[in-house]
Amino acid sequence: MSAGASFYITTPIFYVNDVPHIGHAYTEVAADLLARWHRQAGEDAWLLTGTDEHGQKILRTATANGVTPKEWADRLVETAWKPLLKTVDIKNDDFIRTTDERHEVNAQKFLQHLYDAGHIYTGEYEGFYCVGCEEYKQPSDLIEGTGEFIGQQVCAIHSLPVELLHEKNYFFRMSTFAERLLALYEDDPDFVQPAAARNEVISFVKQGLSDLSISRSSFDWGIKVPWDDSHVVYVWFDALLNYITAAGYGQDDEKFSRLWPATHIVGKDILRFHAVIWPAMLMAAGLPVPRRVFGHGWLLVGGEKMSKSKLTGIAPSQITDTFGSDAFRYYFMRAISFGQDGSFSWEDLSARYQSELANGFGNLASRVIAMVVRYCDGEIPVTTAFTDADAAIRATEIRVTDAAGEAISRLAIHEAIASVWELVDELNGYITIQEPWGLAKDPADRDRLDAVLFTAVRGLGTLAVLLSPVVPEACAKLWSALGGEGLVTDQRIDRAWEWTGGTHVSPLEALFPRIEATVG
Ligand SMILES: [Zn+2]
Repeated sequence: MSAGASFYITTPIFYVNDVPHIGHAYTEVAADLLARWHRQAGEDAWLLTGTDEHGQKILRTATANGVTPKEWADRLVETAWKPLLKTVDIKNDDFIRTTDERHEVNAQKFLQHLYDAGHIYTGEYEGFYCVGCEEYKQPSDLIEGTGEFIGQQVCAIHSLPVELLHEKNYFFRMSTFAERLLALYEDDPDFVQPAAARNEVISFVKQGLSDLSISRSSFDWGIKVPWDDSHVVYVWFDALLNYITAAGYGQDDEKFSRLWPATHIVGKDILRFHAVIWPAMLMAAGLPVPRRVFGHGWLLVGGEKMSKSKLTGIAPSQITDTFGSDAFRYYFMRAISFGQDGSFSWEDLSARYQSELANGFGNLASRVIAMVVRYCDGEIPVTTAFTDADAAIRATEIRVTDAAGEAISRLAIHEAIASVWELVDELNGYITIQEPWGLAKDPADRDRLDAVLFTAVRGLGTLAVLLSPVVPEACAKLWSALGGEGLVTDQRIDRAWEWTGGTHVSPLEALFPRIEATVG
């Protein structure tokens, strides 16, 4: 990370055929945490999210609900997708919809550019199409159906039958980019991460790439192909372009060159679109490829991938209504190794809330501030007489600041939080050993009491700065109680331990109150 540099990060744009579940919120939180972290490192960080609104699946859902596809999309965006961002405290810089004019017009410019440059041709296509995936399936992507679909070939992701479609299509000459893609993966090992995802992408491309059908003429809910308005653009080709149309491609060159290329955070099920098709499209247009494509794992509930169709979908508000948005963010970012699959359970969430957030961090903050109020009338002691124990806390502040920043640069969010938590644990141990309540009983120990409370307050401020991207609400409250200058979100996270303190503390309500209700 370097101050002033641009850090453009994206979530996938989410399909508006249904309402969000915690898997969507998980992706949003991860991207938001990274954006907040880089912003606090002094970078020009820019977080994009949005919605994918074209395609046959939206058209069918809208028709089934008796509205136009645009009306359907408007309804879902306003009642479900934008509220999701509030629910889990996302600080996005932009929200793009693929029905925005800025997207449609500039996506057409991109397409025309590829057509003029000879990367697109007319052909015939016959294949098995999964409406759920909005893509043609290779025979190897299909499995034997079960239950009511026994004897049929079904999509391995949706477990639903595929349709045999035959159409005149426009094709993107993706096959001509296989060698350049393999060279990209070779030359820049960080381009696709984590390593398992990278290996899978490489072996997929090594089998050879087919050209990609990029238009549909059997329905009309999409962006019109600019040179043939009897066709609409294939929904994935359309959707991927959001990452550049939102960044100013085609209409704001200054903005585009400042932001692009981006870091893309995606679920591993859509990795191929982002790590194969998308860079090939950009190569064809003569644009830089993304900085990095990171495929995170799936959330599992009872061993199954979370999705509405599997009936395990949990609304994010079911969690935040009880535990709050900070706890949602902390739990999923801490408990699951970013990049791996992870299991969600109410029991684990409750246990971590109580032991790590309420007892570990929240109680530490409350105790230290209460002691400064009680023993020093709220005035933060100033001292220079430190022992080895005090210096050890200082050393830990510096060490975890560096370790967390290094982990974030690898997108190892869980490791960054674990590093910071070493300071939470050490501070708790320090308070227990130093016993400031004992020192307070004897005026002869006054200097020692001052040094201990000073050290503890310094440590708390460092925690507020380091944890602000993870648990922003709690850290804003803590920062204000510590009398910190300005906003905690304006403090440099890469030098968290240098924070400028105030002179007084003010009382702090419990950051993570006890939860009495039974959940789940
Ligand atoms: Zn499917």
